[in-house]
Amino acid sequence: MEYSEKLTDIPKEHLEDLRTYLNNVRTSSVRHFSVETAFARTDLDKATVQTVFSVLVQEDALKAKIEVRCPHCTAQQGIFTKRSEVPSRSKICIDCEREFRVDKKRNWEVVYEIVDGDHDFFPEDGQWQIRKFIDEEVDCSKSFFEQELKRFEKMDNPQKRGRDFDYFVGLLFQQLEGVDIRIKPNGNSGEVDVHMSCLDAQDWLYRLVGSNTFIENKWVSPPIEKSEIIDFYEKVEDLPNCRRAYFLSMSGFTKGQRTKTGALAKVRAYKDPILVDLYRDDLDQMIENASPESTLRNRQMY
Ligand SMILES: [Zn+2]
Repeated sequence: MEYSEKLTDIPKEHLEDLRTYLNNVRTSSVRHFSVETAFARTDLDKATVQTVFSVLVQEDALKAKIEVRCPHCTAQQGIFTKRSEVPSRSKICIDCEREFRVDKKRNWEVVYEIVDGDHDFFPEDGQWQIRKFIDEEVDCSKSFFEQELKRFEKMDNPQKRGRDFDYFVGLLFQQLEGVDIRIKPNGNSGEVDVHMSCLDAQDWLYRLVGSNTFIENKWVSPPIEKSEIIDFYEKVEDLPNCRRAYFLSMSGFTKGQRTKTGALAKVRAYKDPILVDLYRDDLDQMIENASPESTLRNRQMY
């Protein structure tokens, strides 16, 4: 996984190549394209194309979607806006008439669509604001965090708020001494929001979370569902030497009925690593202290 690649590291002529490609797509009949197709039509490497597309998704210039393809003949079988829209069933391919599972991720490809509007994809001055929290010295006082939170509450673009919120949480965790914070480059790739390496962190933190961990942040109105916890766990269980991972939800987690069916029961069920549910209250406490330290210590016993 790549968290730290910076668009500012990409030579300007490469961005020009991609701008030309995207403008050609815009005036053509092609609606959806992938990293692979852009890669095949430019001289850029795949990682560069992926990074740029990720940033353009964050900038609302591109929309990422899921394309389902038949694994037997690769014929396109439908495009979905969200994971949750992909039906969990088998389908007979319209081309080769063989059966396949629509909901198997291996039959998915991420495709992109250009968002309507007359944007030119890349700002002229090349001054990208991405990762400003991580790269630059900012005043990380309590009042800074409070002001930022107020700003988020007024934002009406949930995608932009989600992205800014990831930086905000990343910055908050960066206040822990010795940690190395990386933010995912793409809002729609299914990657986790914040990665924290603790190799050079203080002993208490290393003992608590292991050598590295993830922090997932959600600022959406319905409480987090069980399936989102399962998705998160699938990512953290691949992390080597991770003891605890954190899921921050501003609207909490589903609790289920009297039986243990909700997201919270799922959080508690996992042990390796342990998942810790963080709430609005926890965030307020971290802001109050301008550091997550006491919150993380207090949540040692969940
Ligand atoms: Zn087929």
